[in-house]
Amino acid sequence: MNSIYYFLPILILTSLLGSRNITNSNGVCVLDKIATVSNLEANSVIVSRESDLYTHVNKINQALNQTYSNYQIRKLDNDCRAKSYIENGQENRVLALNDEYYISRVDGENQKQAVLYFVLAHEMQHHINGDPYYPNSPSTMRFINELRADETAGYVIGKLTDTENLDINFFRDVLPRILSEENDSNSHPPIELRIIVCQIGWLKAKCENNDCSTTMVKRSFETGNSLSVFTLSDSLESEAGLIMYDNRNYYYGEKRQDVRHGNGIFVRFEGNKPSIYIGEWKDDKRHGKGKSYDIDDEIIYKGQWENDKKNGKGILLKINGEKYDGYWKDDKRHGKGKYHKPNKEIYEGEWLNDKKDGKGILRMYNGYQYNGKWKNDLKHGWGHEFLNSGFKYSGFWLEGFKNGHGILYLNGDIYKSGCWENGYYVSKDCENKN
Ligand SMILES: [Zn+2]
Repeated sequence: MNSIYYFLPILILTSLLGSRNITNSNGVCVLDKIATVSNLEANSVIVSRESDLYTHVNKINQALNQTYSNYQIRKLDNDCRAKSYIENGQENRVLALNDEYYISRVDGENQKQAVLYFVLAHEMQHHINGDPYYPNSPSTMRFINELRADETAGYVIGKLTDTENLDINFFRDVLPRILSEENDSNSHPPIELRIIVCQIGWLKAKCENNDCSTTMVKRSFETGNSLSVFTLSDSLESEAGLIMYDNRNYYYGEKRQDVRHGNGIFVRFEGNKPSIYIGEWKDDKRHGKGKSYDIDDEIIYKGQWENDKKNGKGILLKINGEKYDGYWKDDKRHGKGKYHKPNKEIYEGEWLNDKKDGKGILRMYNGYQYNGKWKNDLKHGWGHEFLNSGFKYSGFWLEGFKNGHGILYLNGDIYKSGCWENGYYVSKDCENKN
């Protein structure tokens, strides 16, 4: 169960470079790598300026207080969802959407309105980001821009809808369902993260309206299915709310004298390494249990923290298949741990300062095995080497090479006994060597 939970975001990350959902020449949306915006133009209908959708766009513009006046809405049909792109040079900022698809998936007028706000605001933020539909943009940029678009969509819902129950229901039930039905998970981040940043945007709006009580923050996070990893404590002393560090970096959760303290989520969009941390804090530092997503490097860590660093037990996963499950000290592998390389090489044993050090076993995919002592990432001390050709060496090692007294066996019988130097057998007599 746990391992699936860890790997799911990795699997989604892995497929980031896949195709996109777009209209083909018959007006049907299919997964088609070579489809272009011109297909979309040909197969969509321009919506009249008097339509309710334009009223929504105007309200979103007011809520965002940062806007373009040249939006043009096009209606998509069939299995198409939503896209933003630019038409006629810079003249038209197109919001293409299948509004009927979205509203058919929710009940009641309030929810129908919220889902349209979500979709329109998401696509409008792509224009504000400066990243309307560009199939060749790098996956990591696409990823972070999608999160920004979701954050804005949540913010707009927080600004434009005032029924708290609708909002919470929307994040708990409606949004996870709609996002999980989308075919284009190829180009979008894991749903878990999308809902988190959407809620963060929503809370930001509520706080701007002086409506972000501790209860509100607690409820919003506790009721989200996908956020069950994150619960706020019931301590009466704790306060909860928003801390904004600058335009793009936020903290939501428990705090003490305006520093992060307790359970909280920190989202960092600024800088060259966007990241999200969900978990425990102490005196403004990551401390306790927590999960971090380093989005550019595509790394997930789940485990213990102390003093803002990985300390204690934790699992680290990389998109390339690397995995470390073990103990940490100040962000370095330290103590016992099992390390999987993408090439299926596995080391299980002791670490010191991020290097193999102490006792450990190395197993390679071709059957090679070393079981013995290590120092500074190298075989060093007494150790046994097994080759799948039937040879086995038991003896001394120095900085990665057989060195000193040793015995070489073939299929269990002594083949050679004596002295090795820099990996080579040199003599039968080794008395003066060790
Ligand atoms: Zn998007």
